[in-house]
Amino acid sequence: WAKDNARGRVGAFTPDMNRKVVDRVRLLTRIRHTLDDGAFTLVYQPQASALDRSVRGFEALVRWTDSELGTVSPARFIPACEESGLIVPLGMWVLETACAEAVRMKQRGLPDLTISVNVSVVQLAQPDFVSRVLEVLERTGLPAGRLELEITESLMMGCFEASVDKLNELCGAGVRLALDDFGTGYSSLTYLRRLPIHTLKLDKGFIDDVHRRSDARSMVASIVRIARDLKLSVVAEGVEEEEQWDPLARLGCDTIQGWLVSRPLPPERIAPFLADWDRKRAGMPVPARDVVVDM
Ligand code: C2E
Ligand code: MG
Ligand code: MG
Ligand code: MG
Repeated sequence: WAKDNARGRVGAFTPDMNRKVVDRVRLLTRIRHTLDDGAFTLVYQPQASALDRSVRGFEALVRWTDSELGTVSPARFIPACEESGLIVPLGMWVLETACAEAVRMKQRGLPDLTISVNVSVVQLAQPDFVSRVLEVLERTGLPAGRLELEITESLMMGCFEASVDKLNELCGAGVRLALDDFGTGYSSLTYLRRLPIHTLKLDKGFIDDVHRRSDARSMVASIVRIARDLKLSVVAEGVEEEEQWDPLARLGCDTIQGWLVSRPLPPERIAPFLADWDRKRAGMPVPARDVVVDM
C-alpha cells in the first residue's frame, strides 16, 4: 500500500486512501450478496437501422440497485467486478438472461432481433469462455447468429493472440462480434484488421458534434471508410438529438443507438416500444447517403 516506488519507502496511508479501500471492500461485499440474491437486472436498448429506422436488435445493459448503496452505475461496479473476478459469474448471468430474453421476444411474436451482450476482457481470458458461451446458446435455444458479443479495444493490450483464437472460434460458430467504444483507449488499426469482428461501435465522443462541426464529420467519414474497407458495419452510439441522424446516415453509419431512439428498457417495455416505434417511423423521412458503397 501507499508505497512510494520512486524513493522505495512506504508512505503514510492517508484517510482518503483508507476511505477508498473501505468503499471498495463494501462495494465488493454488496456485489457478492447481490449475485447470491439474483438482484441484478438487465435493461435493453434498441438499435435502429440508420436508413429505414427499423429496429435491428437490442443491447443488454446490467443494472443494480442495492438495498444499502442505492443505485450503482455499471461504470463503477463493472471495474470492481473485473478486478475481483466477480465479472465471471456476473457475466455468465448477463449472457444467459439476455439470450433467454431474446428467445422469449421471438416467442411473443416479435421479429428476429439480435441481442448484444457486453463481454469483459477478464471473461474472454477464461480458458473455457468459448465453450460456456456455446453452452448458453444450446441451453436457451438462441441461434448463434442472433447473439452479438461486444468487446472493448483494451483487449489488445493483454493476451491478444489467445483472444483472437477464441474470437475466431466464436465467429466460426456463427456468433457475431462487435468492437465497442471504438476510438477511445488504445486503438490500433493493425489489430483492427486482425480481429474477426463484424461491427464497429463508434464511441459517443465522436458523434456528439456531428451535426455542428465539419471536423467531427470528417472523423466519422474516415472511420466509416476504414470500416467499409474491412467489411464492418458501423453503429453510432449515444445519439441523443434528431439533428444527428441525417449526417450520421449520410456519412454511412448503418445503425443508430441512443436516447433518441430509446433509453434502455426493462423487458416488459420492449413489445410496447416496438409497436410505438413502428407507428412513429412510418411518417419519418428516409435519409439519403452521400456516398453509395457496396459492401
Ligand atoms: P457501453 O457498452 O458502451 O454501453 C453504452 C452506455 O451508454 C450505456 O451506459 C448506455 O446506457 C449509455 N447510453 C446509451 N445511449 C446513450 C445516450 O444517448 N446518451 C448517453 N449519455 N448515454 C447513453 P451504462 O448502461 O451506464 O453502461 C456503461 C458501461 O458499462 C457500458 O458501456 C459497458 O462498458 C459496461 N456494461 C454495462 N453492462 C455490462 C455488462 O453486462 N457486462 C459488462 N462486461 N459490461 C457492462
Ligand atoms: Mg456495449
Ligand atoms: Mg460503447
Ligand atoms: Mg462503454
